[in-house]
Amino acid sequence: MIRVRFAPSPTGFLHVGGARTALFNYLYAKHYGGKLVLRVEDTDISRSTKEFEEQLMEALLWLGITWDEGPDVGGSSGPYRQSERGEIYRDMVIDLLKRDLAYKVYAYPEEIEGLHDKLLSEGKAPHYDHSMLESFNSADRVSEFESKQLNPVVFFKMPRKEYRLSDKIKGEVVFKEGAIGDFVIMRSNGQPIYNFAVVADDISMEISHVIRGDDHLSNTLRQLALYEAFGVAIPSFAHVSMILGPDGKKLSKRHGDTSVEQFREKGFLPEAFFNFLALLGWSHPDGKEILRHEEIVESFTIERVNTSAAIFDDAKVRWMNGVYIRETDLDRITDLTIPFIVESKLMTSEEVVANRKWLRRAIDSVRKGVETLSEVPEKMKLYFDDPELTQFSPSSDSEREVYRALEAFKDRVEYLDSWNNDEIIGTIRAIIKDMKPDRKGFYMTLRNILTSAEEGPELVDVIFLLGRNKTLNRLQRALRMA
Ligand code: GLU
Repeated sequence: MIRVRFAPSPTGFLHVGGARTALFNYLYAKHYGGKLVLRVEDTDISRSTKEFEEQLMEALLWLGITWDEGPDVGGSSGPYRQSERGEIYRDMVIDLLKRDLAYKVYAYPEEIEGLHDKLLSEGKAPHYDHSMLESFNSADRVSEFESKQLNPVVFFKMPRKEYRLSDKIKGEVVFKEGAIGDFVIMRSNGQPIYNFAVVADDISMEISHVIRGDDHLSNTLRQLALYEAFGVAIPSFAHVSMILGPDGKKLSKRHGDTSVEQFREKGFLPEAFFNFLALLGWSHPDGKEILRHEEIVESFTIERVNTSAAIFDDAKVRWMNGVYIRETDLDRITDLTIPFIVESKLMTSEEVVANRKWLRRAIDSVRKGVETLSEVPEKMKLYFDDPELTQFSPSSDSEREVYRALEAFKDRVEYLDSWNNDEIIGTIRAIIKDMKPDRKGFYMTLRNILTSAEEGPELVDVIFLLGRNKTLNRLQRALRMA
């Protein structure tokens, strides 16, 4: 049974790197019919909060990433917060102590620090072994700790041998003999050390594949030794290369938006962001870029995950979002855009409901020209605020013809029987046919008068959406000027 996990620490917003790790685990589970476990690694109590935990989950759900087991949905290998798994860790530490694979050290932190400095000053690597550390455990010291109700720290006996890992992405990784010494697995306050908790959890949650960022590769050595100590099968590891900014440096706040939340607030569509994230280090066998959720699930394999780092390209994510805005069902785009419209105060929340049909068409008229939903209100302003007055004073014969044609158009608009695109187009065509103004000049001037811009939505859409009154007003104002 394939079981993967996403194991975030709830110490901040879900950033792009974490979201990509979550996504690759999700895709792996879905592709192979496995299960995804969400495990909250909240052992750092000073930095972990419930709010961040909730935000993480919300951001994942927004993206369309769901899990089979987790703190909210439960499951048979819970609890799913490390802060609630103390007993499991204690039992596993006791197991190692009993089998002499770990040992207690009755030393004060400054004594261990002193040992560290001493080793360094002797030109040695600061690697501890049990003979050095157990020298602290005099009978007096043990009773001193007991009388003060202090606990010893627990160290793991790191075997001095070479470890090898066949990483699904990195290939053969060799950890040389003696690279590290014995290490703490449980602090004196009973808190497990990160590398120990991860292994204890991955074992008890029966995780078969660990897919995570390659910043964790160096942790794997300690984790491999712990798996060995527990005598269990080692899961498959796949360490995904980092995401870099366009300057080749590790993606960080300096590069702009990096949290999923920020992209959501800017008006990125979850499906576009999902698609974009999948391509951060993975590629479709046919090189396709615009991929639906199911298509990605279907074709996702670790074999197609790049060994080199992915570059986060802001222009690409915006372009991709633009494609999704144009191609996604208009009702959904309307629903997702409404908050931005209300926020921008173009319309109230009552007005967006009452004028849904109009709004839907207005959004449709501008969606070709935006890359994020937050840009929509600005583009729609032309339907609300009268544009700057465009003075149209004809000075050539050709301009005078355009002027007369516009006058005629204005008169006909006033008496059009019904207000729809066909009528509007028909009227414009008839005028051009009858009065033969310079076609381009006519269209450009009309657009300019109505929108005070040279580009924008289709002219018939502009006229239809402005409605008869606004169209007439704007024409009257401009033509009166002449
Ligand atoms: N909690 C770790 C992190 O937030 C992940 C641990 C792991 O995947 O093994 O980066």
